[in-house]
Amino acid sequence: MPTPNSPLPNQGGAHPAPAAITAAGLKKSYGDKVVLDGVDLHVPAGSVFALLGPNGAGKTTAVKILSTLVTADAGRATVAGHDLTSDGHRVRAAIGVTGQFSAVDGLITGLENMLLMADLHHLPRPQGRRTATELLERLDLTHAAGRPASTYSGGMKRRLDIAMTLVGNPRVIFLDEPTTGLDPRSRHTLWEIVRDLVADGVTVFLTTQYLEEADRLADRIAVLHNGQIAAQGTPDQLKRQIPGGHIRLRFTHPDTYRNAVATLQVATREDEDLVLRIPSGGSQRELRSILDWLDAAGIEADELTVHTPDLDDVFFALTDSAPAPAPTTRNQESAR
Ligand code: ADP
Repeated sequence: MPTPNSPLPNQGGAHPAPAAITAAGLKKSYGDKVVLDGVDLHVPAGSVFALLGPNGAGKTTAVKILSTLVTADAGRATVAGHDLTSDGHRVRAAIGVTGQFSAVDGLITGLENMLLMADLHHLPRPQGRRTATELLERLDLTHAAGRPASTYSGGMKRRLDIAMTLVGNPRVIFLDEPTTGLDPRSRHTLWEIVRDLVADGVTVFLTTQYLEEADRLADRIAVLHNGQIAAQGTPDQLKRQIPGGHIRLRFTHPDTYRNAVATLQVATREDEDLVLRIPSGGSQRELRSILDWLDAAGIEADELTVHTPDLDDVFFALTDSAPAPAPTTRNQESAR
């Protein structure tokens, strides 16, 4: 029995939730190219963790290391409580991996792919067939179960890939850029699947280039930049780390705009759009005093919007890379 003062396995004082994944000082180079340069991670069990970074940042390399497909040059990591180096086979038994290295065989049907997977996991035939059928149903593929997988759309192939991964009942799932190249509808379906998995207690480690995807889906986000984690935390924690909040005043008449520019020295100008931006934390009190002040100065904008920092601001502040365009517009999105 641990005493109140003795540390529990996999629990650091700063992290009350048990960890599904921990990493400390992971390094990996290919020849002269340093890909990971000391990566530290902490992923609480039963959560969605997004590793965010532009193309070539090293996301897939991190997934390959954590899923034992390649070895790190240095550092330590545990997955599902098992040490990556000394307990690789236990790690492999506890995880599922899907992504750019898809296991789907296009020549055979969706059901046959599933049954093959059940055989690989040594499930008895009747149980294998039952599991395959249930998972195809859950991933909305029953209607296509008898068709060769090569006839599936991109979204269907990803779903089949995930269904195949789930045959082994993994506790930790790695999804490497699961929605890259998918249309908005398939992307949303996949987000729902991820949420369902986590509701069942599975830990999902996903990589993405999409800020919006990380923001909508992840409990915690790590931004990978120059081989290191530039920032790590909840989406809100990351947004609070950087300034970027402002009030945006839009004018329709150039004369009114010029008048406001002359009065509002603190504002940032966007002359082409007749827009002025005033830095603001967005609190009610601050908003009221700015409105009073605009009234007193006789400035009347045609539109006033309050902008709180979003992940774009965070990403720009932390990296010099341009993010991938958002996959969908917000009004297409159902509330989380
Ligand atoms: P991401 O998944 O973020 O796009 P990757 O992990 O795939 O990034 O790649 C990071 C960098 O490592 C890239 O510059 C890539 O070319 C390089 N790289 C990845 N795998 C290998 C390999 N097996 N041999 C040589 N270079 C590699």
